[in-house]
Amino acid sequence: MRFLTGLAAAFAVLAFVALRVTSCAPVPHPVPTLTAAAAPIPPPPPVPTPPPARAAIECAAGPLAAAQANAVSMGALAWAPFRRPEVGWEVYAPLFAREVRTACPPQSPGFARALAAWEARQGLPAQGVFNDADFTRFKGLTQTRRTFVMLSVQGVCPPPPAEATLETSRPDEGYGAKQVLLRPAALAAWRAMVAAARAEDPQIAADPRNLTLFSGYRSPDADAARCAAEGNCDGVIRATCSPHRTGLAIDLYVGQAPGYGPDSSADPNRLFMIRTPAYRWLVANADRFGFTPYPFEPWHWEWTGEAP
Ligand SMILES: [Zn+2]
Repeated sequence: MRFLTGLAAAFAVLAFVALRVTSCAPVPHPVPTLTAAAAPIPPPPPVPTPPPARAAIECAAGPLAAAQANAVSMGALAWAPFRRPEVGWEVYAPLFAREVRTACPPQSPGFARALAAWEARQGLPAQGVFNDADFTRFKGLTQTRRTFVMLSVQGVCPPPPAEATLETSRPDEGYGAKQVLLRPAALAAWRAMVAAARAEDPQIAADPRNLTLFSGYRSPDADAARCAAEGNCDGVIRATCSPHRTGLAIDLYVGQAPGYGPDSSADPNRLFMIRTPAYRWLVANADRFGFTPYPFEPWHWEWTGEAP
């Protein structure tokens, strides 16, 4: 019963959390108070990747019409999943596929079959056709795993840690030799993750920029100063409550399209990023090290090993 109550509360939170945008651009604060406490929802289980011959068979099996609909919408769906208008959903496909537990390509019948099974588990109409309701649920799940977001939806903006308790990364660990401040355990977790990524994927190891840090802790004062200096505060949002104030949020180099920076949220850049080996590896493995993603920004990850 306690579990069911927790689950009901979790879905109430999901519905609310899914409406919010939180990112490197700080979240609005204060936010509406939410009284129900959500049960923590674990990350989705790892998705096994079968050998190519078996994968081809598995990914060809499933509802064809749904697969065709997904193939079209993946490049053409006109929507605004994070308030800003976008076209298509390929940029979210790697994380979404992980959530629905498939290694099949998004336009394949196998993907549609896995999606339908996930929709059924989620109590959604099991059509196997990607839609807004699916994404809202997915987004709610990802937001619920971000402890910072779970606090902010309850109206809590955690105070920043004392800077003397933070650890500075080495120049060789930063993008462009930038050094960032993080909580020591978060920095240790990032180091373990990067070592594993380089050991497990030669393509990641081949470019020393991959997974280097370009932002960590940002003091609320510095964010406020930047907001004032740039004259761009996202309305009143920017200077208020960023996850980067916690010393647990990191921005990582996962690639950049020609002409864009590693933190540009321009759609062509985000699409480039989600196709890189570094990003694909993070989607599959970052949770092993306690990191959880923010789907809108492929470079932004938050460590969940300590309370914000
Ligand atoms: Zn960030």
